[in-house]
Amino acid sequence: MAYSENIARLQPSATVTVSTLAKKLRAEGRDIINLSAGEPDFDTPTGIAEAGIEGIRRGRTRYTPAAGLPELRAAAAEYMTAGTAYPADPARVVVSAGAKQSLFNACFCLFGPGDEVLIGSPYWTSYPEMVTLARAEPVPVAGSESREFMLAPDDLEAAATERSKGLILSTPSNPTGGVYSKAALGAIAEWARSRGVTLISDEIYQEIYYGEGNKAPGALDLDPGNVGDLVVTNGMSKAFAMTGWRVGFSYTTAELAAKMSALQSHVSLNAATPSQVASLEGLTRGEEGARERAVMLAAFRRRRDLVTRLFDELLPGCSYVRPEGAFYLYFRVDGAFDEEVTCAGDVCTRILEEVGVAIVPGEAFGDPRYARMSTASSDEDIEEGVRRMAKVLGG
Ligand code: PMP
Ligand code: GLU
Repeated sequence: MAYSENIARLQPSATVTVSTLAKKLRAEGRDIINLSAGEPDFDTPTGIAEAGIEGIRRGRTRYTPAAGLPELRAAAAEYMTAGTAYPADPARVVVSAGAKQSLFNACFCLFGPGDEVLIGSPYWTSYPEMVTLARAEPVPVAGSESREFMLAPDDLEAAATERSKGLILSTPSNPTGGVYSKAALGAIAEWARSRGVTLISDEIYQEIYYGEGNKAPGALDLDPGNVGDLVVTNGMSKAFAMTGWRVGFSYTTAELAAKMSALQSHVSLNAATPSQVASLEGLTRGEEGARERAVMLAAFRRRRDLVTRLFDELLPGCSYVRPEGAFYLYFRVDGAFDEEVTCAGDVCTRILEEVGVAIVPGEAFGDPRYARMSTASSDEDIEEGVRRMAKVLGG
């Protein structure tokens, strides 16, 4: 069969591939510790799950408008803009089947042949693929390693051309856990505005934040007068432990939202209706919901502290980025390179084969010297996983 040029460069998601392999090996009886995909190990809070079940019982099983249930769009608008100067206008929100679809919608509506899209590197593995699927050119831009890869306007200026159309970054970052301060994000947004570049700020980990306050600073916290074209994405997967429900959302202008909704109306129409009903409950649970999320956040924080302590003790030669948010540790593995093992992919294969720990090689995030482990796993798995990895990576 001859395939379209659309998918000429398409690769499956490495995070999903490694995690699927780990689950398969475990099902076959292998002793595998799965620290690959970033997926909370918590069940969805009962009240949210019950709302979804109740929705099915009450016949909330039909199509919704493409952009989502009006009340969910309103709740998501409120969730994303609370305490900001941006309006909580439901017309600016599109609900999608995961933030993954929100990001794809944005890329497909904004970019095309001849366009370049700057991507903060190391990047979440799906950004370059989404840009390429829109037939635009991904341009990874890394901030300096000494600044833990955080971007500054100078890095962007050096990589930009007159074809630069967009900039995608995640804050808190997957894979590093780095978080932009409001001032640093403001400087980037101002740069993007001055260059006519649309900023896509992926804030799915906004509530998984170890600094001051409830949430990491986001693009909507900035003064709208200093920000140009903007898309912010967020969703239910991480902070609400709802990965499998598949609900994400985007906030942008009403005009672009209408285009993203039109695209989605032909591709998937709407996020699953019972999932939207459950998400509405999740976003409107008030104090009770805040308490449930605080319990999960406390566990993620404890594991961040645990994993960094274990690395300092057991792998002192292995440098890592200290995470201020999200639930990953991004660390160097090039100390384990030898004649046969020459990239992170080789190191991760060795770790999986010899000690049964699944982690994702840095090639997936744009840097073959690094690997990423998820800390959204039990404390026991994290501890045992690092102990095992130390056997391969050396002390
Ligand atoms: N952005 C980042 C940085 C992620 O890690 C993920 C995880 N899947 C997503 C977006 C998409 O999440 P989802 O589609 O589950 O909402
Ligand atoms: N976002 C998570 C990760 O990076 C889940 C898998 C995926 O969708 O990439 O591991």
